[in-house]
Amino acid sequence: MRFKTLAALNRAEPLYLPLGGLPREILMTRYAMKRAFAINELVRSIHGESFEWYGYTIAEKRKPELIVDLGLPENDLNRMDYTALDPLGIAAYQESLEGEKVINGWIHSHGSLDHRSFSATDEANSITMLDYVFSFLKVPVAKREILIKDLTFLVEGGYGEADLVEGSVSIIADSPVKRARILETVHGGFCYCVVIGDDGWHTQEIVTKERGVLSGQSEVTKRGASLVLLDTGQILTADVMEALGREIREKIKPVSYDSPRLEKA
Ligand SMILES: [Zn+2]
Repeated sequence: MRFKTLAALNRAEPLYLPLGGLPREILMTRYAMKRAFAINELVRSIHGESFEWYGYTIAEKRKPELIVDLGLPENDLNRMDYTALDPLGIAAYQESLEGEKVINGWIHSHGSLDHRSFSATDEANSITMLDYVFSFLKVPVAKREILIKDLTFLVEGGYGEADLVEGSVSIIADSPVKRARILETVHGGFCYCVVIGDDGWHTQEIVTKERGVLSGQSEVTKRGASLVLLDTGQILTADVMEALGREIREKIKPVSYDSPRLEKA
């Protein structure tokens, strides 16, 4: 093989070694999904009307890609245009979880609206959620080469100040080195985002973030994902429904009409 120019020879592609991927579809137990639609029904029967609510999707720490339950935080104002997730609220809910449970995303309902996609507010919430989940569920997903121009090699005990002025990055080794490649770990994390409606529809996407530990280079991606339901045999018993009803009375309340946003001018 012949290279046309010397420049072509020098322009090596940085090495990228994948170490394992992030989920490409959303895994959820059928039980957790039934709970989501049960919340919609209970909101209607308890409050006599349908409105938006949100919750967290919960997984076991040892299997963070599978949603096994939903967690309902205190929903302050149940209107789609108000719902704003804040990192402190998410952290407080995570703290309250027992055992080895972790938040791996969020779910919300558009109630009776036929708006089957994520709004701009929803997208902003998904990013807030992703940042939080990434902070404690990130895993190494690749080793990525960092191409450094003017990498200089020094030997321990054998260099002076003038040698340090040279090059953009210096590597000090215990014996002479002529060539080296520097690979950084790329951490990846994901957040599941699910939206449902009273009519039984659901739409979902996965947002992911990858960040290099050395370069700090980070990338956020978002893509639609299919939902895969797993049967666990768990069922919504009357007791479970009753407990859920109590939780909804306590945490999900219709929007208060003295809210400044809704005052008549
Ligand atoms: Zn929404």
